Amino acid sequence: MTDKYAVIGNPIGHTKSPMIHGSFAEATGQDIDYQAIEGSLDRFSDDVHAFRKAGGRGMNVTAPFKLQAYALATERLERAELAGATNALKFEGDRIMADNFDGVGLTNDIQRNLGFLLKGSRMLVIGAGGAVRGALLPFLAQQPKLVVVANRTETKAIDLARQFAGHGDMQGCGYDDLAGERFDIVINGTSASLKGELPPLPAETLQGARLAYELAYGKGLTPFLRLAQNAGVPKLADGVGMLVEQAAEAFLWWRGVRPDTRAVIDRMTIPLV
Ligand code: NDP
Repeated sequence: MTDKYAVIGNPIGHTKSPMIHGSFAEATGQDIDYQAIEGSLDRFSDDVHAFRKAGGRGMNVTAPFKLQAYALATERLERAELAGATNALKFEGDRIMADNFDGVGLTNDIQRNLGFLLKGSRMLVIGAGGAVRGALLPFLAQQPKLVVVANRTETKAIDLARQFAGHGDMQGCGYDDLAGERFDIVINGTSASLKGELPPLPAETLQGARLAYELAYGKGLTPFLRLAQNAGVPKLADGVGMLVEQAAEAFLWWRGVRPDTRAVIDRMTIPLV
């Protein structure tokens, strides 16, 4: 029998998840049906339960439901627990299991696809929202030398550094505190690029960096990536690889098979110009 999966969000028209999971299913010979569901803003749990009753086996969860999905779960894996948010649910009987694959997807893209090892590196992550919260544990598991989180609302970055302090060397600060600091890898985890805005990152902070990574995808050369390009950063990347890698981790969790991601990433990549 065909197993049912879905992505739920609002709005959901932009989602690439059905295409990605459809490609994975075809390549691995898995018999699944994967749909996009526009969740009601005030009845998220009803929508999830209706999908479960109709035979749904798992869901990807996107904005604005990642916190509600976390609250709905009966079991949470450590990554979801620390992030306080989930982007994937698995249903087994009465159990609703929650995980968060955003961070492991990003880590896999940086290390496996782009070839930059996090171990021993100095990392700067700008932004302190949901995506960054999900990324910190997978980053720290790779034993970077230091992870600095800088955010417009400085207190959020400081709180995050405190929360994750037991997992590795982390600092939280505002943008002004970055003056004179240098990093190997700089990651834009803000949503500024979605509005074509540039976070107030001192340009010299990017000098000497080897990789500048933009979590947003499909936007071409964003203001952040342009700043990095002008600072001479040799490798620029956007979040398309992260998107496909987190989907692959969810597929593995649901189906027990890890799909190859290269062909899907290549098909979805828009040149950074
Ligand atoms: P959130 O809304 O949770 O967090 C937004 C963050 O961006 C906050 O830290 C906020 O700062 C900061 N911010 C927003 N605008 C500006 C600005 N103009 N200047 C400086 N900082 C700003 O968003 P998410 O964490 O969910 O998403 C962040 C980004 O990651 C988005 O671009 C999203 O598309 C992308 N993403 C990509 C994924 C992928 O698979 N590639 C998966 C998930 C997210 P403050 O706290 O001060 O408000």
